[in-house]
Amino acid sequence: MPALKFAVLAGDYIGPEVMSEALRVLTVVARQENLMLEPTPADVGGAAIDRHGSALPDATLKICAAADAILFGSVGGPKWEKLPPAQQPERAALLPLRKHFTLFANIRPGLLYRELTDASPLKTARIPNGIDILCIRELTGGLYFGLPKQTITLPDGDVQAVDTMVYRRSEIERITATAITAARSRKKKLCSVDKANVLETSVLWRKTVTAYVAQHAPDITLSHLYVDNAAMQLVRDPNQFDVFVTENMFGDILSDEMAVVCGSLGMLSSASLGAGQNSRGLPFGLYEPAGGTAPDIAGKDLANPCAQILSAALMLRYSFGLEAPAARIEAAVKRAVVAGTRTADIAFGGKSVGTRAMADAVIAHLA
Ligand code: NAD
Repeated sequence: MPALKFAVLAGDYIGPEVMSEALRVLTVVARQENLMLEPTPADVGGAAIDRHGSALPDATLKICAAADAILFGSVGGPKWEKLPPAQQPERAALLPLRKHFTLFANIRPGLLYRELTDASPLKTARIPNGIDILCIRELTGGLYFGLPKQTITLPDGDVQAVDTMVYRRSEIERITATAITAARSRKKKLCSVDKANVLETSVLWRKTVTAYVAQHAPDITLSHLYVDNAAMQLVRDPNQFDVFVTENMFGDILSDEMAVVCGSLGMLSSASLGAGQNSRGLPFGLYEPAGGTAPDIAGKDLANPCAQILSAALMLRYSFGLEAPAARIEAAVKRAVVAGTRTADIAFGGKSVGTRAMADAVIAHLA
């Protein structure tokens, strides 16, 4: 098998700390599974601003384009907060990356182990067996990208701002196809979330999802929920979902709600898959932890590396088609945590270990 070519964009604050642990885990798995790794590091975010004057230098974009996937850390933090909004690391690096590679499908596992249920605000009584759901968010359409997007002064002197929510049928069909694939690898249950009682885009969304599933996936059990109800149901009984799919803004909000319900950000990974295929005929993707750069704990050996390690597992699964090594990493993380090795964010005040020791435990459980 040719080497696994991926760009490594560690970013800022805890980004490099957790990235180096994910790379250590990948190296061990590669040795065990007889795989060759070809990671290429590149600057991004605040670190890239400091070194090159841009959050996403051309050289970084070139490295990403030559790779089959991007393993991303996180970007931004207080050091760059005074920059104009358009130059802020997150906006100037992540959004252009999503756009450049048409990363239209954001896949976020909402996973909480039974042993960690006390990390969730729902507590053990509500979710005795933990949580295992999957959020699929459309990432390149809807309100965040629709035009016009502007603020104007009206003839009467009042000021008016406009954002435009727009979706094409083809955009809804391709995210539905992603959701179907994900649902097929789980319980074949898909819930589509919209606001079809109010929004035109949602009417098209519901019609399109319904028709697409009927035509292409009669084996999938499809249901629909309005977004306000979905937000309530996620708190009431998260496990009633298996896979849910929704448009960009609803997904932004619901996936964060899901993250809170699932306890620590330090455990949650995500994948953003592109419309294009990589050199292996699989989806090009960007893989990153759900959390940010956590400046409050950076440099203190406190960051939980599991989200980054689990993101690397998603990369193996989706962009390299390597299910067995991906599952091996996921199982090792689970075994390490269940056996009691915990960083402070999931230790509930009990004994905790640092970033490197957490990764050491994962590596020990890979055997
Ligand atoms: P954050 O996710 O960085 O931190 C929120 C809380 O979660 C903090 O208490 C932090 O310590 C904790 N946390 C996050 N990841 C953790 C980990 N791996 N282990 C243990 N604890 C962890 O959110 P924030 O504080 O709102 O943002 C900080 C910076 O990160 C901001 O500049 C923001 O713009 C940026 N950010 C970047 C991304 C990204 O690069 N994709 C995403 C979100 C936020």
